[in-house]
Amino acid sequence: MVSKFWNAEIETMPRKKLEQLQIERLKKTVEIAMGSPFYAPKFKELSITPDSIKSIEDIRRFPFTTKNDLRSTYPFGIASISLDRVVRLHSSSGTTGNPTVILHTQRDLDEWADAMARSMYCIGLRNTDIIQNTSGYGMFTGGLGIQYAAERLGALTVPAGAGNSKRHVKFITDFGTTALHCIPSYANRLAAAFLEEGIDPRNTTVRTLIIGAEPHSEAQRKRIEELWGAKAYNNFGMSEMCGPGVAIECREQNGMHIWEDNYIVEILDPDTLQPVPEGEQGELVLTTLNREAMPLFRYRTRDLTSILPGDCPCGRTHKRLARFQGRSDDMMIVKGVNIYPIQIEKILMQFPQLASDYLITIETIDDNDEMTVEAELAQATDDYGLLRNLSKEITYRLKSEILITPIVKLVGKGVIPQSEGKAKRVNDLRKNF
Ligand code: ADP
Ligand code: ZN
Repeated sequence: MVSKFWNAEIETMPRKKLEQLQIERLKKTVEIAMGSPFYAPKFKELSITPDSIKSIEDIRRFPFTTKNDLRSTYPFGIASISLDRVVRLHSSSGTTGNPTVILHTQRDLDEWADAMARSMYCIGLRNTDIIQNTSGYGMFTGGLGIQYAAERLGALTVPAGAGNSKRHVKFITDFGTTALHCIPSYANRLAAAFLEEGIDPRNTTVRTLIIGAEPHSEAQRKRIEELWGAKAYNNFGMSEMCGPGVAIECREQNGMHIWEDNYIVEILDPDTLQPVPEGEQGELVLTTLNREAMPLFRYRTRDLTSILPGDCPCGRTHKRLARFQGRSDDMMIVKGVNIYPIQIEKILMQFPQLASDYLITIETIDDNDEMTVEAELAQATDDYGLLRNLSKEITYRLKSEILITPIVKLVGKGVIPQSEGKAKRVNDLRKNF
């Protein structure tokens, strides 16, 4: 019988046993990290040794690691082993500042490929699939990370890379691609490229999309699924934790299983740094358990999410993360109100008259914060009455969600500048003063 699981023993491991495995791996990771000039003195000061770890709660004794630590030790200052054993480096996309460098041994790369292959298997991809990757093959982990994993799965892989939508359209059509890896904003753009060629994406061979790397709402996912007539699965990864392959939805599409054999998961209140009760939102803090070149302890991802309570019907025992609200540094404070871009997206996506691109601009006008939301129309129209009513309705619904009244501007296709990589949703002009 064909298994439902890539690694049934690990994926369905009873929680007690899984915790035991985590403890063993944490001890091993501490031993490795004693070779890190960054961690060694901290461990000494806090009396952290492999033997001092008795339970998973001992994680609370560890120091936090932040993006700033990675920057201040740039490029190799956190490495736990000598560079002769390191075979590759990657860096984050630098969405929120200078990039950071992550090192990998051959074993790290193998484990990473295996975790992402497991993730692909989890959403139903098999060696019979043809997987086309739309991520850039450079420092960004979405390129090579997906490539090696798809090969590990045994699928036929099309390393088409970022950009050039016409070429993607041709490859999908010619090769009969069954699965795509892309960021959600590109899933929309590629669908538009098909439509421009007079091909309905629903009539292509694509049945599965792996979407991730940027926050997106459930409504956005539904849109992508309808556009493509395919299933779109939310996939979470970050360079610091290796890249894609950290957590993925199963076919239930209800939360992303985070592979706990590889990570210790904490959800903490970002201010007090104390754990929040299960089900409540907080900052995701991760400890690597299966990496040797550059293990990270209690890494503050700044991503806001929660653990979904209860068991998953798929049989996997690894905890599920809720859809991300965004990063703590995505939060905008406008007129004293805390707002996340994803709240605005959620409302905009409810309007079928709108396409998927939007841009939020915040500026100071007469000493007051003003927010403008530009949203792209799905179809051009010069019926001003209709446009007026539509923008009124959008303003009203946005106001009930974010509690302030934005200026809503409906714009034609192509007016909102498109970014090469992850979509830029907010233009905060206040910070430039
Ligand atoms: P950068 O931090 O420069 O963007 P990465 O490419 O490592 O570099 O991106 C990791 C970040 O991308 C995560 O911390 C998270 O904010 C975001 N991200 C990744 N996957 C998802 C997802 N499925 N949903 C929401 N956000 C995601
Ligand atoms: Zn599941």
